[in-house]
Amino acid sequence: MNFEKYIRDIPDFPKPGIIFKDITPLLATPEAFREVIDAMAERVKDLDFDTILVPEARGFLFGSALAYKLGKKLVPVRKPGKLPYDVVEVSYSLEYGEAKIQMHKDALSKSEKVLIVDDVLATGGTIKAIETLVKKLEAEVSGVLCLIELSFLNPREKLSEVKVESILVY
Ligand code: 5GP
Repeated sequence: MNFEKYIRDIPDFPKPGIIFKDITPLLATPEAFREVIDAMAERVKDLDFDTILVPEARGFLFGSALAYKLGKKLVPVRKPGKLPYDVVEVSYSLEYGEAKIQMHKDALSKSEKVLIVDDVLATGGTIKAIETLVKKLEAEVSGVLCLIELSFLNPREKLSEVKVESILVY
């Protein structure tokens, strides 16, 4: 299936000059969403991991479907103030300003192997920050899986130590 036709370009969102990849047409097409989850599962079938880590909010959509399909543990990574129990936290820089993400401090055990799943890999900053969180809990990143990779932003330069898979590359 040509998944690209279910990804809509939105110019000047969330700010002027950015062309946002809108994944909602894909979500709205049940056979396309199912095939994309199957394709994502196929990409990681030989990867050794215990747990799927998903960043808020669109990572949840793909990662939870994948966790269900593969029978894996699921762990959410969230913006500050959302998780109810004690957290570990990391700050990272965005194009403008700083952001923070958190995970429960008991979410991963030592040496647990983790696959990070998100919708879009842009600069790689978010995934890099999640890697730092995983290392804080002495767990290991087995790989990164994204639906869309914006290769013109060179995210793989930031993620040189980890295996990165993406279904659609722009
Ligand atoms: P990065 O940290 O790699 O620069 O940005 C990736 C994060 O921002 C992801 O969590 C992703 O959901 C969001 N993101 C950045 N650009 C886009 C985009 O064009 N479309 C969508 N759907 N998400 C984006």
